[in-house]
Amino acid sequence: MSNCAIVGINWGDEGKGRMVDLLTQDYDVVVRYQGGGNAGHTVENEMGKFALHLLPSGIFRDGVVNILGNGVAVDLENLWTEMETVMAQGVALTPDNLKISDRASLLLPWHRDLDGLEEARLKDKKYGSTKQGIAPFYSDKYQKKTVLAGELFYPEQLKERLKDIMEWKNLTLTQVYGAEPYTLEKIMAWIDEFGSKLKPYIQDTGAFLRKAQAEGKHILFEAQLGALRDLDYGIVPYTTSSNAIASYAPVGSGLTTAKLDKVVGVVKAYSTCVGEGPFTCEWFGPEADKLREAGFEYGAKTGRPRRVGPLDIVATRYGVQIQGATDIALTKMDILSYMDKIPVCAHYKVNGEITDDFPFPSALGIAEPVYEYVDGWGTDISGIRNWEDLPENAQKYVEMVEKAIGCHITYVSVGPERDAYIKR
Ligand code: GDP
Repeated sequence: MSNCAIVGINWGDEGKGRMVDLLTQDYDVVVRYQGGGNAGHTVENEMGKFALHLLPSGIFRDGVVNILGNGVAVDLENLWTEMETVMAQGVALTPDNLKISDRASLLLPWHRDLDGLEEARLKDKKYGSTKQGIAPFYSDKYQKKTVLAGELFYPEQLKERLKDIMEWKNLTLTQVYGAEPYTLEKIMAWIDEFGSKLKPYIQDTGAFLRKAQAEGKHILFEAQLGALRDLDYGIVPYTTSSNAIASYAPVGSGLTTAKLDKVVGVVKAYSTCVGEGPFTCEWFGPEADKLREAGFEYGAKTGRPRRVGPLDIVATRYGVQIQGATDIALTKMDILSYMDKIPVCAHYKVNGEITDDFPFPSALGIAEPVYEYVDGWGTDISGIRNWEDLPENAQKYVEMVEKAIGCHITYVSVGPERDAYIKR
């Protein structure tokens, strides 16, 4: 397989990083094509346990080139901090195995400020932002009011551009939010400090990718968030501010002519959601606490307890369809082992009508889950590596999900470690 995208099917935190780390063994290049440091991909392998936010999850494999594409929100400061952390854990990051697109726009400190200020203004109507500046960043990108990473190589022009942008940005900071304005010295000091550290990694990665493609290299595209957080197709307005779906990969990666031979959609064996917005299958109380504890469902970036509930077939089928998934990786199957009867949300009820269609965002808040139950398997499956060795009821669960969502489940993950999976 020459090209593959690994994407989330649900609300995020499905285990995409874990699957990228695993599947990178068959690829030469890994490209992140959207989003910023608001992600939290946890990867466990022989080098340790890592929480990645901006770095692609292919950085642990020797010989794999990792790219932050033009669609990514590059926060030089947070990226450098993350690189230092990962390097301190023994992972080599050099301009040979990590490259930043010169066409990636820079997330600037005021984007983070504005994110926090706006969430504070919204109070109980807040969107549940991680306050990493993502929404203000993408708004400015589309207004052409931020700068490209490659502009670091044109310091005089960069300074002029930043001066103009800062004057405009200060109007919002001071007049809308009553916050402190930026000075040119302050923003230039930030640019100089982190720009000088990251400049060696910045290059024309579009040209690099086109060459890699011409040489027949295998390229993997890594999504940052799940389908239901996609700006256009997700649960608006509780989405992220960029397109997380696979079809954006060619645009956001820099390889505009990429054809995706394979799209691996990652689905968790139950549902979780961080932040605000409708979450039809949500459990509360002791039932939720038990599942949250079993799956250790706390945000990698924020530490926030994740909202939890049973697998949502309606939302998952929608995610599979908009992602164009060719294969599914079903993760965290081992977590369900404690349940005698496993509920799944087989349908929704909207205004008294049973439906299998994922509702328009405005109707999502009134959708109710319709549960069906399957028998549990009552034994630890985390050590199993072959399909034939899985208890019959676990096999039946996988087959039931596969049929309901209409996509082949190729990988069943039974633990966070790299080798804890079953290939079907
Ligand atoms: P991502 O953002 O989609 O990469 O997902 P996260 O890293 O936020 O969340 C997935 C979490 O589940 C991580 O802590 C992984 O180490 C863990 N994980 C992934 N697959 C499995 C699995 O099959 N079993 C268990 N127990 N943990 C898993």
